[in-house]
Amino acid sequence: MNYYVTTSIPYVNGEPHIGFGMELVQADVLARAARQRNNKVLFSTGADEHGGKIAEKAREKGIDTKIFTDQMSQNFRDLGKLLNISNDRFVRTTDAGHEQRAQLVWEALDKDIYKSKYTGLYCTGCEAFVTEAIAKENNGQCPNHERAYEKIEEENYFFKLSSYSAQIEKAIKDGSLKIVPKTKRNEILSVIHEGLEDISISRPKDKISWGIPVPGDDTQVMYVWFEALMNYITVLGYPEHSDFKSYWPANVQVIGKDILRFHAAIWPGMLIALKLPLPKQLYVHGFITITGQKISKSTGLVVHPKEIVDKYSADVFRYYFLKHIPSYNDGDFSWEKLEAAYNNELANELGNAVQRTAAMIKLYQNNIIGNTPEATHDVAQYWEALDDCRFDKALEEVWEQVRGLNQYIDETKPWEIHKQGDTEHLREVLAYQVTCLLEIAELLEPFMPETSTKIRQTFETGVVRPIDGTLFPKSEKVTTG
Ligand SMILES: [Zn+2]
Repeated sequence: MNYYVTTSIPYVNGEPHIGFGMELVQADVLARAARQRNNKVLFSTGADEHGGKIAEKAREKGIDTKIFTDQMSQNFRDLGKLLNISNDRFVRTTDAGHEQRAQLVWEALDKDIYKSKYTGLYCTGCEAFVTEAIAKENNGQCPNHERAYEKIEEENYFFKLSSYSAQIEKAIKDGSLKIVPKTKRNEILSVIHEGLEDISISRPKDKISWGIPVPGDDTQVMYVWFEALMNYITVLGYPEHSDFKSYWPANVQVIGKDILRFHAAIWPGMLIALKLPLPKQLYVHGFITITGQKISKSTGLVVHPKEIVDKYSADVFRYYFLKHIPSYNDGDFSWEKLEAAYNNELANELGNAVQRTAAMIKLYQNNIIGNTPEATHDVAQYWEALDDCRFDKALEEVWEQVRGLNQYIDETKPWEIHKQGDTEHLREVLAYQVTCLLEIAELLEPFMPETSTKIRQTFETGVVRPIDGTLFPKSEKVTTG
């Protein structure tokens, strides 16, 4: 079976933050797990590079806009490498391929597009229009960017999203577009139920030139949000490429809760208008606070993914954000919580189970493991959790096995069996421990690929091979920030 998974494509006007690091890791777990189950996987991420905000940033820095986006999108590629992300594609909305195919999408939507006068309030920081009501609520100023909304009066193209409200609502209700968690599904359903309005999908070129030209009208460029959504099919080669034919619809699209409306209302509307199937599942993650406070560049409350990886490792980053940020809710990061998870769960539980099993086989059996029994643990709940993007729950299932193994060792006391000289029984006990560890390694592969490989390399050949260093060393490099 083919399996297609995507992340959202972040806007490249700033450095990547831990929230997007988490999103990459979540999608990577889905991709790796699908590969483990012998699917043909295509995993795509990328960068959103058009719009007035980007052009403005480049101007501030005094560099050419294209050069600016080259530099900025590289930061996001580097983040993928840093976190050991196994994506197959990296789409940039300034790629010629995306630009050309986005124009084909626009042309295919032609009968649902019309030109009209637009009057409204706009925040360039958000690259979004706001309603009068919201503007009033915020005293005429965007709370995220602390800048006054600009009053805009212009001729724009509109997409007839309103005609698809009923169909979108039906698809979400009957589960053909599954949205998890349910709270997000209900939230968007109530928005759609009110009836969706047509949306403005272009800007005059004389106001914003950094965008994809509207086909057949060189006075207009596509609105960045509208065009960015198309990346999910342009990266597959919409409309004619065999990848598009064999991988669309996506199995899971991973997004953050701030862009729910774009992905659960506008994007499905576009797809229905294009007569294309909807993605099967939309997974919506929450926000991350740092020691209980909102991430904020202005107050300096920012943690870079690289700081975490440098102090610990990519696997530790992955573990923390998959296990200790609730998959269906907002969560909190602090150096203290990370260190506690590292010491208690990774070093004392997983690391310890691996280390003492290896040490006993070395000491009592000269590293010889011998035949290992079949794995017997029920992993149905683990897979069920993964199908629902409950990464925290899937890891909890793995940790039940880790704790179960440590308990088994404590109760069976192989060192006493050794004292009694019952070598056959001792061999069976230690072989069982190895089976458990290999099973744990397999379940961990999507989550912590490097740790999984180390455990397998230690035990899978029938002879214990020494681990290159301790699995999760406790050392002074672990500091609190
Ligand atoms: Zn704003």
